[in-house]
Amino acid sequence: MKKTNMGTQSIWAGEKDSLAFGATQVPVVHSVSYGYDNLDEWYDVVTGKVSAHVYGRYTNPTLDAFEEKIRILEDAEAATSFSTGMAAISNSLAALLTPGDRVVSIKDTYGGTNKIFSEYLPRQHVDVVLCETGNHEEIEKEVDKGCQVLYLETPTNPTVKITDLERMVRKAREVGAIVIVDNTFATPINQKPLHFGVDLVIHSATKFLGGHADALGGAVCGRKDLVESIFHYREVNGAVLDPMSAYFLLRGMKTLQIRIEKQQENAMKVADYLRSVDVVEDVLYPGFKDHPGHEIAKKQMNGFGSMLAFSVKGGIETVRHLIPKLKYAHRAANLGSVETVVGPARTTSHISCTEEDLAELGIPESLIRYSAGIEDADDLIADLQQAFDALPEHLYTTK
Ligand SMILES: *Cc1c(COP(=O)(O)O)cnc(C)c1O
Repeated sequence: MKKTNMGTQSIWAGEKDSLAFGATQVPVVHSVSYGYDNLDEWYDVVTGKVSAHVYGRYTNPTLDAFEEKIRILEDAEAATSFSTGMAAISNSLAALLTPGDRVVSIKDTYGGTNKIFSEYLPRQHVDVVLCETGNHEEIEKEVDKGCQVLYLETPTNPTVKITDLERMVRKAREVGAIVIVDNTFATPINQKPLHFGVDLVIHSATKFLGGHADALGGAVCGRKDLVESIFHYREVNGAVLDPMSAYFLLRGMKTLQIRIEKQQENAMKVADYLRSVDVVEDVLYPGFKDHPGHEIAKKQMNGFGSMLAFSVKGGIETVRHLIPKLKYAHRAANLGSVETVVGPARTTSHISCTEEDLAELGIPESLIRYSAGIEDADDLIADLQQAFDALPEHLYTTK
C-alpha cells in the first residue's frame, strides 16, 4: 500500500472551518444552544435549509473539527462522533438493524462488541453468527446464507489476528451486506478499510486517535447515507461527544502519524526481544513472518501496529510476579497511549470469559497484552529484562 501525506493531514486536516477570532487552535465551544434573532433564519437552520448549529446534542463546532479530521484521515465521504467507541458501535448497529436481520461477525471482537452480539442483538430478534476469526472460508459460507451486516475487526484484541478486507468485501457485495470494520488497532495511518470497499469504519478514539489516555470518544466514517442515518439516531439517543474531550482528541490526533511510527518500531523491537527470552512461551505479532496473518497484513496495512501479546511459562503465577516489576508500563485496561500499557487478557479484553472460554478462544491464561508506547525501545527492553531476571525460578521450571 502506498504511503500518503498522513503526517501533514494529521496536523492540518479539518480544523480550518472551526477556527474563530484569529485563533490558531480550535476553540472549545461549551455552549449548549445557539441563538437566532431572526426567526426566518432560525427556521431555515432547523429545517436544514441552512447548515448551522442549534443545540449541543446535534452538532457543535469543536466536534465538527474532530469529525472532519477523522473523515479526511480515513478518506471518507462523511463522519460523525460519539461519546465513546462503544457508543459508536452500539448506535451504528441500532441505527442499521431491524428485527429479523442477520449479522455475521467474528469471535474475537472487542469485549463490549461481543456482548452486543451475544446478548443484546438477539433480544432485538437480530440473528448473530460469530465465526472463527481468521477463518475466511467460514465467514464466506455464513455471508452466503444472507446477512444485512458483516462486522469485522482487524487486527483483533489481544491475539492480533488479521482478516482479509478485500476478500470479505467481495463476498459481502454478492449478498448486498453492509461491511463495518472496527479500525481502532490499525488507525488510518496503517489501514484505510474504505479503500477496500468497506462501507463504514468505526473507531474507539479513546485509544490511538487521542493517544494520551485522557479522553473517551468514538467515531464512525464512511458512506454518507449510512453515516447520516447513524448521526440522526445519535441525535435522539444522545451519546454525544463532550466538547472538551473533542479538543483533547483533536490535539492528540495532530501527532497520530509520528506516534504510530514510533510505537510500531518499538513493538517490533520488543517482540523480537521477547522471542529470545526463555520464560516466554509464545509471542503474537503480525510483524513476524510466521504470524498466520502476516501476508494479508502486508497487503492491506502500512505497518504492523504497536499491539502485541505474549505468554509465559508458569502460567498466571509468573504473570503475577512479572507485571508489578515493570517500571515503564502502566498495568491498566487501556491501549494505544504514549505510555506503554500492559495487562493480562483475562483482566482486560477478556474479563467476562471463564477459563473454558479462554481455552476455546486459544488464549493462554498467562497471555499478556502489550501496547508499546513511544519510550526508547532500549529502555523498554531493559525494563522487561530486569523483570524477567527477578522472577523466582521455581515459577517456571517446576510447572
Ligand atoms: C476500546 C475499544 C473499543 C471501545 O471503545 P471505548 O471508547 O472504550 O468505548 C472498541 N473497539 C476496540 C478495538 C477497542 O480497543
